[in-house]
Amino acid sequence: MVDCICDLERPSHSGHQAKSLMPVERAQRALSDMARIVVGQEQIPLTHCQGRILARDLYAEATVPPHDNSAMDGYGLRLQDLPADRILPIAQRVPAGVFPVRQEKGTAVRIFTGAPIPAGIDTVIPQEQVNLLADGRIELQVAPKLGQNIRRAGEDIQAGSALLAAGTRLQSAEIGLLASQGISDVNVFAALRVAVVTTGDELVSPGQRLGPGQIYDINSFSLRAALERLGCQVTQTGLVADTFEATRAALASAAESHDLVITTGGVSVGDEDHVRPSVQALGNLHLWGVAMKPGKPFAFGHIGQTPFLGLPGNPMAALVTFEVLALDFIRQLMGARPRPVLPVPVAAGFARARSNPRQEYLRVVLNSDCGALKADLAGSQSSGVLSVASRADGYLIVPPNNSITEGSHYAFVHRDQLYY
Ligand code: AMP
Ligand code: MG
Repeated sequence: MVDCICDLERPSHSGHQAKSLMPVERAQRALSDMARIVVGQEQIPLTHCQGRILARDLYAEATVPPHDNSAMDGYGLRLQDLPADRILPIAQRVPAGVFPVRQEKGTAVRIFTGAPIPAGIDTVIPQEQVNLLADGRIELQVAPKLGQNIRRAGEDIQAGSALLAAGTRLQSAEIGLLASQGISDVNVFAALRVAVVTTGDELVSPGQRLGPGQIYDINSFSLRAALERLGCQVTQTGLVADTFEATRAALASAAESHDLVITTGGVSVGDEDHVRPSVQALGNLHLWGVAMKPGKPFAFGHIGQTPFLGLPGNPMAALVTFEVLALDFIRQLMGARPRPVLPVPVAAGFARARSNPRQEYLRVVLNSDCGALKADLAGSQSSGVLSVASRADGYLIVPPNNSITEGSHYAFVHRDQLYY
């Protein structure tokens, strides 16, 4: 069932009655509601888990640090045994990796960073605050405070506490936490296999010579890069001719051997647009047409059991719809837990009287205006112009039917923030 097809601005050529385009938030919800984990699990070495998604909840088995230890190179003592002249003999030397004996009363321990605190010691003095006397004893230059420079057992992680939740993307901090538990192999979700199917008779792959009327295929490459940044395993299935038969065959074959099919181009209502009817012939189209600019001709469905996302052909529109609509859906297919990206309010550094019935994602650069941030247009906002994306810091989101007043605040999202 197609949930939403239409055109706020022009009469539709689809043959369907014109309704309103689906608002962005509703489209995001519709995608999220139908998202299921579609990948299996595998066990991989800790050295290979960068960017992978944890498949099971993990609880700490080890307390970290396992014992009270010194935060400094210095001397340990029991504060209540410190004599008035602050002079103590040294009874033992404890480097990191050695387990100390109980400390004799009225003595100090020579201790190093990370070394276990001997029983009977409650305070560590940095070596810079100590004079070494000729007879081997030490003299404290300052009066210490009880408990100073001791890192407590379990101050990082308590055994039995929640360590990492299933769905967490493993990056440097998480991989460090796994190592702190002595874990060498990790259960993660298998990489999502994504087919990028690019349609368009005018397209030629980079590396080949352009003929008359031809342009290079951009979208397969920009989308491949974005998908790989998420941790997907991407196949570029080649360029598909603008015929119903070729499109249908390419989609059927891609769906058979992948967990997700993404198309670009051919998803509008022109005579050369065959993606929509092909998906309808092979499965279900759930949604088509979103009230966003750029990116109106966005489609979502299933080809057989395989999820399908249809992105516009215009390269900027393909990237924006990918980042605004597809990213979180893909995360859920991969087993990852999406987390809200909080936009920050930023003042527009420009004005525009015209409003648009679709929610806009303006490509902007951030500049400083006497210390306050303002967003300026990064260049042409045409859906075919990709060069601004490379200059832009992110999107200034203008809700439907809003003109823009200079100095008014709009939600800003940094593009890098979207690839957490
Ligand atoms: P379409 O949605 O197929 O009508 O394409 C819209 C516009 O985007 C046309 O100008 C196409 O030439 C262009 N386009 C479509 N696919 C690509 C692509 N993979 N790389 C670069 N431009 C494209
Ligand atoms: Mg086309």
